[in-house]
Amino acid sequence: MNIALFGGTFDPIHRGHVIVARAAAAKFGLKQIWFIPADIPPHKQKAPITSFYHRYAMVSLALAGEREFVPSLLEAADPAIDGGQHKPSYSIDTVRRVKQTLGKSDRLYFLIGMDAFQDIAKWNEADELLAQCDFIVAARPGFSLADVASSLPEKLRPPPAVTKLFRKQKMEGPLVLPGVTLHMLPETHENVSATQIRAAVDRGSALKRLVPDAVAEYIHKERLYRNSATRKVATGKSN
Ligand code: ATP
Repeated sequence: MNIALFGGTFDPIHRGHVIVARAAAAKFGLKQIWFIPADIPPHKQKAPITSFYHRYAMVSLALAGEREFVPSLLEAADPAIDGGQHKPSYSIDTVRRVKQTLGKSDRLYFLIGMDAFQDIAKWNEADELLAQCDFIVAARPGFSLADVASSLPEKLRPPPAVTKLFRKQKMEGPLVLPGVTLHMLPETHENVSATQIRAAVDRGSALKRLVPDAVAEYIHKERLYRNSATRKVATGKSN
């Protein structure tokens, strides 16, 4: 079975996330996509962030009725394991844990948008993470195949002459290099972002068409993202 992990802050989850997952499932025959909200995303530790509980609740609401999409607690702080201490969640640890539970015929993918992939070289044990599973990189506006190649950790990057040839090429793949296989997902043109949603709530604008209805209702009921500039800042150690 083909399974993909789709990690993110999901603050909040929105239609862009769901549409990109649907497109990836169709193109790569994914039978399950696990949406994994990070407890404290290592790259967002200085930014204000909504409680894990709210973000996970919204992921669950958004995925109701999506049979192949699983809301995952894999990166939640677990009181039974670590006394509920908040630690940064590293993707490499999650991937290793998941792989231990998979069968021989399972194939693990890692789904990621190009805007996030451009920082991949800074992730914890990036080379190892890229070696552990195939990546599906979702195209975002303005990025070329050269951007994909030059985002890789130095050891895995193709020679500059090759990357130069990619400059005018759209994000179409796969890109198979020693130690890394990257599949490309064409742009879904659903250019909504969580930042845009938080700003919309702050302005009092309607969220229709940006998030699933149940998520819009939850945001309203829980009064999330009002005065988002003054939200609490998450604490945690850095990468
Ligand atoms: P923010 O605006 O707060 O940075 P975001 O909308 O990018 O948030 P994240 O939770 O940070 O949401 O994203 C999780 C993953 O989903 C990342 O890999 C990101 O690249 C991808 N992603 C987010 N929005 C889209 C979109 N509209 N289309 C395709 N991929 C997306």
